[in-house]
Amino acid sequence: MADTLRIAIVGAGMGGLAAALALAKSGHKNITIYENATNLGFVGAGIQLAPNMARILDKLGCWQQIAAEAVQCANTSIREGSSDKELGYVDLEYVKEKYGYPHMVGHRASLAGGLYDGCKGESAVKFALGNTISDIRFGPKPTFKATPADGGETYDVECDILLGADGVKSSTRVAMLQELGLTGSAKDSGQAAYRIMLTREQIKDDAELLKLLDSDSVTRWIGEKKHIIAYPIHNKTIYNISTAQPDINFAGAPDAQYTTRGSKSAMKQTYDDFCPMIHRMLDLVPEGDVVEWKLRVHDPLDTWVHGSTALVGDACHPTLPHMAQGAAQAIEDGAVLGVVLSPSRISGSSPETINHALRIYEKLRKPRAEALVELAAESGRAMHLGAGKAKEERDKAFAAARSGLGKVPDKWADADVQAQVYGTDVVAEALKLCEEEGLVAKLNA
Ligand SMILES: Cc1cc2nc3c(=O)[nH]c(=O)nc-3n(C[C@H](O)[C@H](O)[C@H](O)COP(=O)(O)OP(=O)(O)OC[C@H]3O[C@@H](n4cnc5c(N)ncnc54)[C@H](O)[C@@H]3O)c2cc1C
Repeated sequence: MADTLRIAIVGAGMGGLAAALALAKSGHKNITIYENATNLGFVGAGIQLAPNMARILDKLGCWQQIAAEAVQCANTSIREGSSDKELGYVDLEYVKEKYGYPHMVGHRASLAGGLYDGCKGESAVKFALGNTISDIRFGPKPTFKATPADGGETYDVECDILLGADGVKSSTRVAMLQELGLTGSAKDSGQAAYRIMLTREQIKDDAELLKLLDSDSVTRWIGEKKHIIAYPIHNKTIYNISTAQPDINFAGAPDAQYTTRGSKSAMKQTYDDFCPMIHRMLDLVPEGDVVEWKLRVHDPLDTWVHGSTALVGDACHPTLPHMAQGAAQAIEDGAVLGVVLSPSRISGSSPETINHALRIYEKLRKPRAEALVELAAESGRAMHLGAGKAKEERDKAFAAARSGLGKVPDKWADADVQAQVYGTDVVAEALKLCEEEGLVAKLNA
């Protein structure tokens, strides 16, 4: 019976949780998520909840809970960091009518918590928290070792389907590349990010900042090699700020270091040439609360699939945050896996059928996710221009777009790009592709 196949998922991030929930909803009964963290204390930061993500979460039954504390964005304002002058303005009110869901922004903990609660509501999904996976072997029945954090003995696991949703540092990807004789590893993008959350209480004495917290805007302040993006979350009780700047504070750090406890003065120094309001904003961050993330990427992989194993999310397409699509794409991966691996489609349960299904997943997902990786990098380059001809042209393009002529240089805000990103229903596309590829659902499978 296909619904009793043993599905092992490495990683309880957005990709792993979405895949588990989608597979449970499709009828699978034996799904285990292995996660090295002992509890899922989700990172405290904001996240954009794009309509393509919302469409899937709604189908999975967890959107209402997540949307309840999120904030709907009515517009976005792109401003010069040094002067606070508005370069571009894009109305986002049309998004809901056109794509069925508004563009929302929320708390990462709500998004992850909504997916986690969804999984906990499915008896098919079991959690092996505090278990680090290693020694992955591929083939028709993948195997790996799991080491409990509590000092328990390392044990062997065999499964029928293995999904490596273990993030940008993915051990599954490293093992897969090695076994296939391929090269490649995660590499520095040269950029790093501060993530900051200011509460209403913290900004209560600053009228300008309060106005931003009370707005329905996503605001981006741009400058040479850096920018700040900010928006209100948690029913407008928190102003969420995320930055991107050169990763100079990681100089000399080992390659594997992804975060560092940053210094407030280094952060302020980085944005020293931005306007006084930004100085006041950064000044409110409590000393000792500054954490900086190194933003790492990976060249496109030759394949995401080997035998009965597939990679998911940042493990196979780590994306710079400039399109706000990394988690959305990981969730799309999970939703598509729910379609192609549905028990009715892989009813014979043979490793060949499973591999066929995973190849369909890869065929649909790889071009889209990788196009977004490139778009995010391109948008970053356009936002981070320094003085010169290219910047002048960019700012003219912003001005023209305001008058309804041409495209907004910030790809995230461009209506044609949004049509591609928000307008694509990957679940509908997966159903269509399965039919075209002969992976047909069988009744009473
Ligand atoms: C600054 C910033 C802002 C962003 N903003 C947005 C945004 O607005 N919108 C958006 O959609 N995306 C955004 N993203 C991207 C998004 O956060 C990621 O793409 C997404 O979280 C990736 O999810 P994932 O499940 O693939 O990986 P992860 O969330 O990294 O999860 C991987 C999990 O695997 C576990 N794991 C790893 N190795 C092992 C192992 N060997 N054994 C067991 N467990 C293991 C880890 O503990 C982790 O829990 C942003 C990213 C950054 C850095």
